[in-house]
Amino acid sequence: MTLSTSWVDGAAGSLFDLDNLPYGVFSTRDDGARRVGVRIGDHVLDLATVAEVGDPASALAAVWRTPSLNAFMAMGPEQWTVARDWITEVLRDELHAERTSPHLHRLDAVELHLPIEIGDYVDFYASLQHASNVGRMFRPDQEPLLPNWKHLPVGYHGRSGTVVPSGTDIVRPCGQRKAPTEDSPTFGPSRRLDIEAELGFVVGVGSTLGQRVGTDAFADHTFGVVGLNDWSARDIQAWEYVPLGPFLGKSFATSISHWVTPLAALDAAWTDLPGQDPEPLDYLRVERRSGLDIEVEVLLNDIVVSRPPYSSMYWSPAQMLAHTTANGASVRTGDLWGSGTISGGEPEQRGSFLELSWGGAEPFTVFGVERSFLEDGDTVTLRYTAPGTSGGRIALGEVTGRVLPAT
Ligand code: CA
Repeated sequence: MTLSTSWVDGAAGSLFDLDNLPYGVFSTRDDGARRVGVRIGDHVLDLATVAEVGDPASALAAVWRTPSLNAFMAMGPEQWTVARDWITEVLRDELHAERTSPHLHRLDAVELHLPIEIGDYVDFYASLQHASNVGRMFRPDQEPLLPNWKHLPVGYHGRSGTVVPSGTDIVRPCGQRKAPTEDSPTFGPSRRLDIEAELGFVVGVGSTLGQRVGTDAFADHTFGVVGLNDWSARDIQAWEYVPLGPFLGKSFATSISHWVTPLAALDAAWTDLPGQDPEPLDYLRVERRSGLDIEVEVLLNDIVVSRPPYSSMYWSPAQMLAHTTANGASVRTGDLWGSGTISGGEPEQRGSFLELSWGGAEPFTVFGVERSFLEDGDTVTLRYTAPGTSGGRIALGEVTGRVLPAT
């Protein structure tokens, strides 16, 4: 065993070793209180209980005994580092094994919950390939990209109250649908239910109203990342979105992973952006190495149907945060922003079924069956991996959901 692996059974060399350590919120059958845990291998460590053994008055223990990550996230980067160093020590040095082991719970023996009390939720549109593909389908007689797209990260405010944890069933939404060939709209279940494979970013430390967050302050405010599926009803969306943007076609549900991967675990994942032309305005300037090398898999009923590369994203997460506050709007602990659908340049790298089936016109085949939009009973799972700081790979939180019939 090297110094960078854990004594916990099954953790060493796995996707959840000491170079990962994502945070979540869990409860057990014996203790229904929701509290903060950290994942190591296939276990979750009850952080508050272990911290209190060493220091009954531990400030970290106090915030870990709460039912969301918010109080911990609000402590800021210095305490995030203190916590990560302490957890790493406890799970690395076998001296701690005897007193720590009783507070490790097998993942299959705990219930995982929404990890964050979500503040405001913003969703961006940061993939050039996705925006171009959607533009071609939604506005076939115009340029695929609207004139603003390469000058600012386009986004909209979503509904934070319907952000749900991985595993939550998704009821097919009803709404107004009107195909271009129909004279008038009808109300009923969406016929074009879809997913959007995204990454979500979580604000740890809020900002002050009236003060911009510069691109260089990204890590001072951002706690970590989650897997995110922006469920989308394309027929409702296409009819309602002009001129004010997405509304009911998106707001029925957004799923995020149970696990929040701290930025520190992504130190080895930073990579060059694909390139921005024209050069952005000053407040959006970033170092070239502001992109993230994260590989995504989209699974439909356990079959991989797409592999979108996050490294292809045009706008960086630091630019999205800077743009959110460019007008002086403040962000708060627990705010969440989605990257927008991750779509690469190849057909098998598209992060939505709208694109994979080209608006339903070119169905794709899964085990000999033609598929386009989601059917009742379908399960979609998004998986993410990134380079870890120890030279291997880490997994980010996966996000899954099953489609139930409309009610
Ligand atoms: Ca989206």
